[in-house]
Amino acid sequence: MVLEILKYPDPRLREKSQTVTEFGPDVEKFAKDLIETMYAESGIGLAAPQVGKLWNMLVIDCRPKENGRYSIEDMTELEQEIDQPLVIINPKIVAHKGKTTFDEGCLSVPSFFETVERHDYIELEYQDVKGNKKILKTDGLLAIVIQHEMDHLDGTLFIDRISFVKSNKIKNQIKKGGYPEKKRREAELVEVDAPKAEKKADKKRSRE
Ligand SMILES: [Zn+2]
Repeated sequence: MVLEILKYPDPRLREKSQTVTEFGPDVEKFAKDLIETMYAESGIGLAAPQVGKLWNMLVIDCRPKENGRYSIEDMTELEQEIDQPLVIINPKIVAHKGKTTFDEGCLSVPSFFETVERHDYIELEYQDVKGNKKILKTDGLLAIVIQHEMDHLDGTLFIDRISFVKSNKIKNQIKKGGYPEKKRREAELVEVDAPKAEKKADKKRSRE
């Protein structure tokens, strides 16, 4: 089932998520729905609070896609060893090294992209969908997406991690004018007979 994704400035995106303590069919069904929603929106990661569920849980599939901005050659050796899609529950970064930057986007802040600094390499303790304890060591895009999604569990968005001036500019723009994508959709609904030449909008950028 595809779930509705909350968009900034929805206050529910600012809440802190809770540890998942009971594993079973509810958790498995929700993980399935999260993955389905992520794929439906062409995202590469999605956290439970983005659909209004305050669980410490996220899903990721950032493997290279055809015509995507991230190609198979870009995958690091560590990334290639890890099966995706990943369901990550109760994650905790236990070690990290180095710094990296990436032009990040977010399904909860659609159509905005900004460069964010993250740890380059991380070691993560987490539980899988059955509650089994796991350790994951990675770098590359996967490490970046994990850190982006973990921020959601704390009520933090990528637009909080950029300069104060840029952050305020984006936040005010959204609060005043909404999202450009939404306006375009509304325009399309009004002008049903208009040619759809602009359909292939910027699909190359990955949204998390
Ligand atoms: Zn996000």
